[in-house]
Amino acid sequence: MSDIGRALEAVRGRMEKACARAGRDPGGVRLVAVTKTVDAGRVREAIDAGVRDFGENYVQEARVKIDAAGAAGDVRWHMIGHIQSNKIKYIPGLFDCVHTVDRTSLLDGLERHGKPMDILFEVNLSAEETKSGTDLDGLKKMLERVSGLKYLRPVGLMTMPPYTANPEDVRGIFRQLREVRDGVNAQFGLAMKELSMGMSSDFEVAIEEGATMVRIGTALFGERI
Ligand SMILES: *Cc1c(COP(=O)(O)O)cnc(C)c1O
Repeated sequence: MSDIGRALEAVRGRMEKACARAGRDPGGVRLVAVTKTVDAGRVREAIDAGVRDFGENYVQEARVKIDAAGAAGDVRWHMIGHIQSNKIKYIPGLFDCVHTVDRTSLLDGLERHGKPMDILFEVNLSAEETKSGTDLDGLKKMLERVSGLKYLRPVGLMTMPPYTANPEDVRGIFRQLREVRDGVNAQFGLAMKELSMGMSSDFEVAIEEGATMVRIGTALFGERI
């Protein structure tokens, strides 16, 4: 078994344990392997080991890897990085799912390309000026537009808490994202079920709080160089 295969087994084991603690079905949590700085050969290895969902932060880097990884039929690519306005046009041809919709102009820009895509809204719950993501008012403004969308399918919310050594510090943020999802689903008559939250340092806590997608880089591919 490859290094990545072994790491994958270990991560899946930890995911299952977290599900068991929370009384959740492990089938309800999807592992998104984050491949920033990871080369195409190792992406291929991860595909061979059974990974089917990949997350990329940068359009340019993603394009090279998506080409090189080949058209492994059922592989899905997730955009998880901040999207600059001048890069919007490249997203619909490359990605199946965008986790980082954080402003109305981006929502409109993606819709305009006329390609079906799943989208998640990135919400900033840590009130840090420098972090990306929308506040609750911005989220509601975007959700007001959702009924007019033909191509984009809103499936959930994403958040990225500040890094802390102790994952318990961010449990409250994960819980809050779940509560916001439930609240806006009720308010806007939606049925968004996804919560994209949890990374290598805190995915178990995120799963206990309801994560349906965990975005994991380091625990699968090792420290980034
Ligand atoms: C890099 C990154 C991750 C993965 O982080 P690790 O700590 O390496 O697991 C997850 N989400 C986003 C948005 C990232 O940029």
